[in-house]
Amino acid sequence: MIEVLIPENFTWAKEYCIDNIFKKRYGLDVTIKKHDKKYYLINISEINKNIKLPDIFFKNESKQWLKKRNKFNIAIKEFVLDDGIQIKGFGNKIYSIFHNIEKTIIKFDKEKKTNFLPVDIFGSLFFMFSSYEEYCSDLRDSHLRFSEKQSCLSKAIYSLPIIDIQIELLWIFCMKSFPNLERKVSNGVMRVTCDVDHPYSQRSLFIKSKNIVKFLFNKREYQKKTNTLKKIIIKENLNNFDTDYAGLKYILNKNKEIGNKVIFYSIPQQTYWRYDTNLSWKDKRTRIILNEISKNGNTIGIHPGYNTFNNLNNFEKTLKFAKKYWPIKKNPPTYIISRQHYLRWDAQITPEILNTLNIDEDSSLGFANFPGFRNGTCFPYFLIDLKNEKITDVTEIPLILMESSVFSKNGMNINDPAEAYQFMNELKMKCFNLGGVFTLLWHNSNFTEDFHHEIYENIIK
Ligand SMILES: [Zn+2]
Repeated sequence: MIEVLIPENFTWAKEYCIDNIFKKRYGLDVTIKKHDKKYYLINISEINKNIKLPDIFFKNESKQWLKKRNKFNIAIKEFVLDDGIQIKGFGNKIYSIFHNIEKTIIKFDKEKKTNFLPVDIFGSLFFMFSSYEEYCSDLRDSHLRFSEKQSCLSKAIYSLPIIDIQIELLWIFCMKSFPNLERKVSNGVMRVTCDVDHPYSQRSLFIKSKNIVKFLFNKREYQKKTNTLKKIIIKENLNNFDTDYAGLKYILNKNKEIGNKVIFYSIPQQTYWRYDTNLSWKDKRTRIILNEISKNGNTIGIHPGYNTFNNLNNFEKTLKFAKKYWPIKKNPPTYIISRQHYLRWDAQITPEILNTLNIDEDSSLGFANFPGFRNGTCFPYFLIDLKNEKITDVTEIPLILMESSVFSKNGMNINDPAEAYQFMNELKMKCFNLGGVFTLLWHNSNFTEDFHHEIYENIIK
């Protein structure tokens, strides 16, 4: 059995980190003991070898735990891994946030009884998973979100699942120290999601008539089409000319072809007229869509409106409303999943709200304007409620890629189809190389260019 000795303070937080790595990631039992030393030590009783790691984050923070500040003294470092060590898909370099400053190379010496891994992997995990910097900072964008631009970490850090990579490095050290260990292997998971911000186009009549005209005149078979048009009008199915509805049907059909199940997050009830749709789950038109979605094993999640992320009362009302009007068989599921509209998030309060209302799963944590790894990981983990110093029962599935963050001017502003696809596919491969979860969000209302379809079909495979 693996034993991890930890420096004495912040036991609750350190146990969380160790469980995440050894139990959840490696699938191994572990015992945790305190010792009066200033470092972590990993042993196996029968084997006369151990691994030592520095305690940097918790030691530094003990004097200023959760202290408000907008600047952190962090010196990001890129370590070179010694010859033999390679992280699959990521080569022989790793980024680190908290580490022993004197070292620059990481190496394993099989002759030594104790090998020193100079990266504070446990502290780094806690810092990233708890959104510790966001909690302490009061910098926000116009939607009151913390953005990657306000962070003391670089875009290079957010482009990589740095914690997952460090966990792989620690595994290499474990394997070399304790050769008979075997770990759990996980395969990459594709998780296709859609936020149905606009079930139907609000610009309806003008856009619809434009599309009908386009449909009628851009090809020759006029007569045939007029007949089709008659049928459509007779059936009152003008929805076929609604671009947002068409986007939704397209997502349903394409994923069905491939055999993907899709998660659709939908706003149960308006919380702010400017940014939330006025079609609630009570509305007949929304119910038609939600029922269509729930066929073929797709999942409906709630997409709590604009003013819920920092307001327990509003969130609670939304949840009650959703449960009352739950579209399928009127029975709300026992497992409720959620994603915040506009990805609004306040590390000081949102985890507490989700936990108080017994939300089972959230998938809001990605930056609105920067795709990648906001919390350094592509694996699910339990959200941390820093305010109350506790681990919640809410599973977070990190959001890795939202289409608009690639195409929009505020985001990566990539509009060359080949370049956009390459960028997205690289993100996907970063997750798959580690056996993590690639969570994709593509809005039904955002198939605005022809090449969007082509990219979408390739990326969901
Ligand atoms: Zn939304």
